[in-house]
Amino acid sequence: MIHYICDRCKRQINTADQTRYVIQIDIQSVVDNSQVEMEEDIDHLAELHQMLEGMNQEVLNEEAQSSHHGQYDLCPECHRQFLKNPLGRDSMLALGFSNN
Ligand SMILES: [Zn+2]
Repeated sequence: MIHYICDRCKRQINTADQTRYVIQIDIQSVVDNSQVEMEEDIDHLAELHQMLEGMNQEVLNEEAQSSHHGQYDLCPECHRQFLKNPLGRDSMLALGFSNN
C-alpha cells in the first residue's frame, strides 16, 4: 500500500479512509508587451531602458524563479485550509483590512 504524506502538515494520509487531494501548480511569468507600446512615452521609456540595463542580471534571475511547476498532496484538513486561503495571504489580509 502506498502511503502519502501531506505536503502542508507532513501527516500521513491514510487513503483507506481519507481523501487525498492533489494540487497542481503551474506558474508562468507573463509580460504584456502590447501594454507598454500603447503607453509609449519617450522620457519614460528612456528611463526604463536605463533601469533595465542596470538590472539585467536581476531580471533574468527573477524570471527563472517566477516560473514554477509543482504537484502537492494534501490531507482533507489542509485541503480545507488551502481553499480558504489559496494564495497564502496572512490572516490580517484575509480579514479584509477591517481593523484599520
Ligand atoms: Zn495536511
